Amino acid sequence: MRIVTQYCCAVLAGTVFGLPAPAAGEPVPNAKPLATTRQQPFLEGIDTPPAKPQVPDSTRNVSGTRSEPLAACDIPGALLDVAEPVTDGGYEDCGIADPVRLAGVVSGPNTAKFHAPVTISCDFAKVLTDWLRRDVLPVAELEFGIPVAVVASGPGYQCRRRNNRPDGKLSEHALGMAIDITQFQLADSSNISIEKDWVTATGKGKFLQAIHAKACRRFTTVLGPDADANHRSHFHLDAGCHGQDCTYIICQ
Ligand SMILES: [Zn+2]
Repeated sequence: MRIVTQYCCAVLAGTVFGLPAPAAGEPVPNAKPLATTRQQPFLEGIDTPPAKPQVPDSTRNVSGTRSEPLAACDIPGALLDVAEPVTDGGYEDCGIADPVRLAGVVSGPNTAKFHAPVTISCDFAKVLTDWLRRDVLPVAELEFGIPVAVVASGPGYQCRRRNNRPDGKLSEHALGMAIDITQFQLADSSNISIEKDWVTATGKGKFLQAIHAKACRRFTTVLGPDADANHRSHFHLDAGCHGQDCTYIICQ
């Protein structure tokens, strides 16, 4: 497994991100729907894009492949409901064949919930749940002695291209294989903001650095404030395929 340092892809474009409303001056996510299907070479990334994104068969080419919800998506510790298959009218590459609404995770006596349930694929929900239960919650307990209660994030699924560009490679968000995380709220109502606390020499900064590093062992793309200005306020986490053999890890 190789770890590369070139940055690649997505930018947040959710509509529900903060725990409290974003403070003045914070970037407000602004989703741009796909405007065209015209393909051009993707310039940012590490790979020359294939004609279609390489993702597990269960999440690609949704149209016509499944009309019923999943029978089940069994993930230990996940609070979720299976959802109706997601398609995006007229754009065949967007969608999720095995969507779930992940509301949060349970670990021992603690429950951490998303600010609003996120729509993602069952496959991605497994990776995300593992990261939250096995990395985020334990590190918070270790650092603060207080459990994480709320995870503030984007919506997960969005039919758009990387960096909201009108052309180029499809974002992993368009396949339900990505999430943007902006903040955590502990059980004592204190907030940990990626934008405000990432670079600070505090327990909050240490916590964020630790869970970012651990994310790089679970996801194929982890982009944080050190990646570029687009990610100064959040972690972009996805499980997309990079490189011909899908072994590249992008960790920034
Ligand atoms: Zn993202």
